[in-house]
Amino acid sequence: MTQPTFDQEHFSAALTRQWRRFGLHDAQAMTPDQWWHAVSGALAECLTERPARPASGPQRHVNYLSMEFLIGRLTGNNLLNLGWYEGVKDVLAASGVALSDVLERETDPALGNGGLGRLAACFLDAMATTGQPATGYGLNYQYGLFRQQFIDGAQHEQPDNWQREAYPWFRHNAALNVQVGLGGKVTSAEGVSCWQPAFVLQGEAWDLPVVGFRNGVSQPLRLWQAKHASPFNLQRFNDGDFLRAEQQGIDAEKLTKVLYPNDNHQAGKKLRLMQQYFQCACTLKDILRRHLTAGRTIETLPDHEVIQLNDTHPTLAIPELLRLLLDEHGLMWEAAWDITRRTFAYTNHTLMPEALECWNLRLVRTLLPRHMMIINTINAQLKSVVEARWPGNEAMWAKLAVVHNQQLRMANLCVVSCFAVNGVAALHSRLVVEDLFPEYHTLWPEKFHNVTNGITPRRWINQCNPALAALINKTLKRPWLNDLDALSDLAPLADDAAFRAEYRTIKQRNKVALTQWIAERTGLQVQADALFDVQIKRLHEYKRQHLMLLHIIALWQTLVSDPQANLAPRVMLFGAKAAPGYALAKNIIYAINKVAEVINADARVGDRLKIVFIPDYNVSVAERLIPAADLSEQISTAGKEASGTGNMKLALNGALTIGTLDGANVEIAQQVGEENIFIFGHTVEQVSALKQAGYAPATWRKKDPQLDRVLTALEDGTFSGGDRTAFTALLDSMGPAGGDPYLVLADFRHYLNAQQQVEALWADPEAWTRAAILNTARCGMFSADRAIRDYQQRIWQAGR
Ligand SMILES: *Cc1c(COP(=O)(O)O)cnc(C)c1O
Repeated sequence: MTQPTFDQEHFSAALTRQWRRFGLHDAQAMTPDQWWHAVSGALAECLTERPARPASGPQRHVNYLSMEFLIGRLTGNNLLNLGWYEGVKDVLAASGVALSDVLERETDPALGNGGLGRLAACFLDAMATTGQPATGYGLNYQYGLFRQQFIDGAQHEQPDNWQREAYPWFRHNAALNVQVGLGGKVTSAEGVSCWQPAFVLQGEAWDLPVVGFRNGVSQPLRLWQAKHASPFNLQRFNDGDFLRAEQQGIDAEKLTKVLYPNDNHQAGKKLRLMQQYFQCACTLKDILRRHLTAGRTIETLPDHEVIQLNDTHPTLAIPELLRLLLDEHGLMWEAAWDITRRTFAYTNHTLMPEALECWNLRLVRTLLPRHMMIINTINAQLKSVVEARWPGNEAMWAKLAVVHNQQLRMANLCVVSCFAVNGVAALHSRLVVEDLFPEYHTLWPEKFHNVTNGITPRRWINQCNPALAALINKTLKRPWLNDLDALSDLAPLADDAAFRAEYRTIKQRNKVALTQWIAERTGLQVQADALFDVQIKRLHEYKRQHLMLLHIIALWQTLVSDPQANLAPRVMLFGAKAAPGYALAKNIIYAINKVAEVINADARVGDRLKIVFIPDYNVSVAERLIPAADLSEQISTAGKEASGTGNMKLALNGALTIGTLDGANVEIAQQVGEENIFIFGHTVEQVSALKQAGYAPATWRKKDPQLDRVLTALEDGTFSGGDRTAFTALLDSMGPAGGDPYLVLADFRHYLNAQQQVEALWADPEAWTRAAILNTARCGMFSADRAIRDYQQRIWQAGR
């Protein structure tokens, strides 16, 4: 496949149509925002008219179902993937406009919470680039993830109205509208069930183009938006109560109003379940329509289509397909089950109990009475399998049942119904088998796989770090952005002093650029020659931002008590949003900000220690921070972070990792070599041994005087103007009351020791740069393209 070259005349004509539509007489009259709209709209127009098309081939079409797509800004990314960046830049320059300024006007579409949603976005990019035919299916939220502000150090949330109605990359085709039912009752005639929903909603398809890297491919991310169907209260309409039909019932538009802001946590809200079903029902209608209009029979669905579930959020697609096959296509159970079982695959993202979705049966039955019947049939079928394997073992059934204790367990439904189940890093996939689903594994060992996550190097090197991309281009002299293993050719240059100097200069320039941006955004002045120590990710106890905070306090106490201490100047950078209902996470943010206020104002430490908490962490912020990071904090409690992808972005951009043996850190360590990473902390096995033996954080505090001094400073009001209750939630979690479930105190000493090794290497810039280059050179396997090929080989091409 080839990429259409940039056609300047065509683009300029499209651009002119855009500003004329604004009612202007001259491009010069456009405001900066209008420039962004016009450029993006013109590009979208060019893309629709030119021969960009979906990938094609003998593979099964992948339907990637995800409640979240954290896509980030699109215009710059699309320009780079198209290879049109320079051409458009020149056109704009002729009008005295800088493309880079125009691109800054785009609001960042934040239709996801964190890693899971960003993974979905990276995978769409990689499927378009590798030529895997695919459609992404999600929801078009009017409000994305909330915007974060700090007021006196505390997080405040603002709604994120990202103006979807004016987003120029959307294409809407009313011919794709679908209808979705909710509620009502099931009638049965001659063995055929018929669901009569109480409400009918309309789903509108809003498509964003996913542009492959210079290969002429563009395929859709289809986001469903809920609208009233008229009349939307079908029951009352059928009863002849026409007027009330318009007034009663649920407010359809509420359904896609807002993204739920929880990461790794289930809240069990009715509206969320409605969102999930709405997404699944719209998507299944679309998939079957595509399949049938291609002239294929329903029985051949699994030969042509695979449905990949990004976590359990879209699980209802399973009973929805069964319902369509049974009730609308008239198939018998055995045939319908066989088709379904060969179509679905499930990606697990967490082992944490609070994140495993369970739904109250009464809620499911009320909203989806027919699906409840189908789920009960699956459950009964499973019961006979379990009974045959473990006769009379009630405890086993209690564990494996899909429906139990008035709860519907989504993960169990997925494992039972899918032909493949995968974890997202080698360690995580092992724990999925050993800790989460050991019994299912004995029943169906062939279902279980690992596919280690990946990231797209198009956004996470080429777009965010153009200077590094240029150095790699110049050095390798061959394509590498769609063949990231090629980076290994950089490894010998780690020993080349001239190359190291160039590499270090790029990092230094990125750091200078970041300091300027930090000053604009926060008013803080920081020095670009300090060590930039970065932790950017959602705020969660298991990720242990508070462990980094304890280290910061320890550093400060050392600098104050020993002004001669030989410590490298550091800038400690955080970016993190806490779910609005997660009080402890919010207290951790507050604590970091309060500690920062005191330390940043302490003339005794001056520039030797600065703390910057960047508000409103999102994809665009990540794009600025990652190229400027020296040290990447990946310090979750071992066994809790499924994979992580921030770790991969940072390592590829030449930050050294300080991390636990958790998630993909394990594989990063294998790739880069133990001398080029700082590994510390209890391992998964040691964590469970410690807990088994009755872990008591107080004994760890008692035996480590430095740890005691750090905790005391948080307790005694040092950082809160004398208020001893400011950090109670945080301190209780790590004390006897909370029991320190994430072993912050147990890993504190290991962590500080590892930080001393960081100091030692940082003191030798040549050795540090050498290690950084080796991180870039040896992390090629973390390309999302490799992950997609793994999915193809291990999952999508099998299982039909
Ligand atoms: C990559 C990314 C994440 C995931 O980060 P982890 O450190 O893997 O949790 C979350 N949010 C944004 C904006 C990202 O770009």
